Amino acid sequence: MGSITLQRVNKAFGDLTVIPAIDLEIADGEFAVFVGPSGCGKSTLLRLIAGLEDVTSGAILIDGKDTTALPPARRGLSMVFQSYALYPHMSVRANIAFPLKMARLPAAEIEAKVQAAARTLNLTDYLDRKPRQLSGGQRQRVAIGRAIVRQPEAFLFDEPLSNLDAALRVQMRLEISELHQALGTTMIYVTHDQVEAMTMADKIVVLNRGNIEQVGSPLDLYRRPDNLFVAGFIGSPK
Ligand code: ADP
Ligand code: MG
Repeated sequence: MGSITLQRVNKAFGDLTVIPAIDLEIADGEFAVFVGPSGCGKSTLLRLIAGLEDVTSGAILIDGKDTTALPPARRGLSMVFQSYALYPHMSVRANIAFPLKMARLPAAEIEAKVQAAARTLNLTDYLDRKPRQLSGGQRQRVAIGRAIVRQPEAFLFDEPLSNLDAALRVQMRLEISELHQALGTTMIYVTHDQVEAMTMADKIVVLNRGNIEQVGSPLDLYRRPDNLFVAGFIGSPK
């Protein structure tokens, strides 16, 4: 169960307050998109949830449990990076298996989980290849495979498609939405792309200078923007 709750989450880097104080509730199984202009704090907020940064104050609850002081590996979350975060010298199989090897699972169990992830992502025929022998979309699928095998409470994506060309971005958007349908796992997806937010989200969180301007469904935000920032941001695709 992967609900995520932020309680008065504040983050400062020295004198620079990046996240003043955020309260947010993401329900179990929800697809939430954090959207906002470059530099507004999207990645910082995601890294706080992942545990890659420490909060300055406030609390982060996952499935109702306070995880604020837990290291990333104990929060039960998987972060998906851009496809270039693959290990180039390792096969697809070894890339997907990597987190399970780190967790010292038995070899047979690792292989079974890798096979299952490969089936979900249509990578079965590519397990022995190296990342450079794959297309951009296949590489992105391997990055997702590496997140899936850990069976996380939630997936965190930070602009995972920004390296891909426009046509492939559209295809991968669909694939990630289908994956969400298939797994039913909570996903938080960070993007500066309004179209991605509008097409993928159950819930959109519009960020501006570290503050939440509005939270709502794509239709809510489109029909009833709370303010000019939201109206301008959602209304004007780049
Ligand atoms: P986004 O992902 O929305 O583009 P970020 O979360 O990366 O925004 O950055 C938000 C703000 O925090 C920016 O002003 C950025 O310069 C600052 N920032 C991010 N990480 C650090 C850091 N480690 N040290 C100092 N400032 C940082
Ligand atoms: Mg960012």
